[in-house]
Amino acid sequence: MAATHAAHAVRTGSLVGLFPPGTTQDETGALVFAGVPVAELAETYGTPALIVDEAAIRARARQYADGLAARWPNSRATFASKAFPCTAVYRLLAEEGLGIDVAGGGELTLALAAGADPAGLVVHGNAKTEEELRLAVEAGAGTIVVDNFDDIDKLETILSEKRGLSETGSEQGVLVRVTPDIRPDTHEAVSTGQNGSKFGLLLPQAREAIARLRGSDRLRLDGVHVHVGSQILDLDPFAQAVEAVAELGEFAVYDLGGGLGSRYTYTDHPPTVEAYLDAMLDVARKLLPADARILIEPGRSMVAESGVSLYRVVSVKRGGGHTFVAVDGGMGDNLEVSLYQQRFEAAVATRPTGAGELCRLVGRHCESGDTLSADVPLDDPRVGDLIAVPVTGAYTYALSNNYNGARRPPVVFVRDGEHRPVVRRETYADLMRRDLP
Ligand SMILES: *Cc1c(COP(=O)(O)O)cnc(C)c1O
Repeated sequence: MAATHAAHAVRTGSLVGLFPPGTTQDETGALVFAGVPVAELAETYGTPALIVDEAAIRARARQYADGLAARWPNSRATFASKAFPCTAVYRLLAEEGLGIDVAGGGELTLALAAGADPAGLVVHGNAKTEEELRLAVEAGAGTIVVDNFDDIDKLETILSEKRGLSETGSEQGVLVRVTPDIRPDTHEAVSTGQNGSKFGLLLPQAREAIARLRGSDRLRLDGVHVHVGSQILDLDPFAQAVEAVAELGEFAVYDLGGGLGSRYTYTDHPPTVEAYLDAMLDVARKLLPADARILIEPGRSMVAESGVSLYRVVSVKRGGGHTFVAVDGGMGDNLEVSLYQQRFEAAVATRPTGAGELCRLVGRHCESGDTLSADVPLDDPRVGDLIAVPVTGAYTYALSNNYNGARRPPVVFVRDGEHRPVVRRETYADLMRRDLP
């Protein structure tokens, strides 16, 4: 046991450093998020709960917006909202001056409800229905990203009807999504730039779509879009993506996508936002027209590090060389482990020592894959302890679900010693609401 302690004390020296920048510890060692003690959050909102450091998102949004503007003034940072689609997050990023990416009618509805400027909306999706495209056009979405020829057909139909009604010759700005045939070093499930991806058009088909759109009097071809994947920890694929779109010719707009990885574990060392921007814009300066407008679309890296999931230990079970620490959440509120085998660190929130017995932190759902962390040191975990899992701001709320009748957890913003719920916990009545007995 002593050897295990020592090994992990070395490996996990900077545990608190994985929590949002505003995180401190009180005199007993318990975690404090933006001035709010962890016990107060658990008492007020129950567990599981997703705690979000508002200042951390704002700071990252400014880092992106300012870093991009300093390197390429005719530009805009746009939040890929699927990473955290609730109106409080949309509102916050809209307030910071960012555009908003949406995929589908639901995210579009949330963005509009949050007061996002329709002109700054970028509408994505590889399977946009006519109904969704109509919603986007009617809402005045500034940019629709064409993924396939069917998108073009549907938009032509929608806009011809619209013109028929108004006689004003309406035009819709579009980009063509390009698949550059780049395979970044990331999990297959979140790699999107390779030949064989369901997203976008390979260069020959993209050229065809561009030619067709140039001949359209209803759709205005603004430029091209590329997004090669998510949780990418090296810079080469981003630079290669810019080279690929440059081959397609000169346009008014180049949307270079998102995908920068976040630091989930002690051993992850993602590039900084500045290094990421340099990698793309150095190539852009060489190959793209100087007066072009550049968009970027960070999702994960905008919000991941602002979030902390809180759980309560329900059971501690030892046997066969394992210690299972089971909590009151799991794959109902964090699917990242099941979908992409993302590794998460964790700590007893009142004793985040980074040392202790090597445990398997598991959820409450009826699947063996329902694990939050396969091997994480926890300091003397006991029933009733609070567990904090850092870096859960991205794609957790978005993918939360009702498996095993789980009620999806609340989202709580913390800032300057204050806390406020921005999404309440689901109730059993919510679960019954759509069920027609
Ligand atoms: C998901 C997505 C993003 C954001 O990716 P992250 O890895 O979360 O930064 C950006 N653009 C498009 C088109 C996407 O589908």
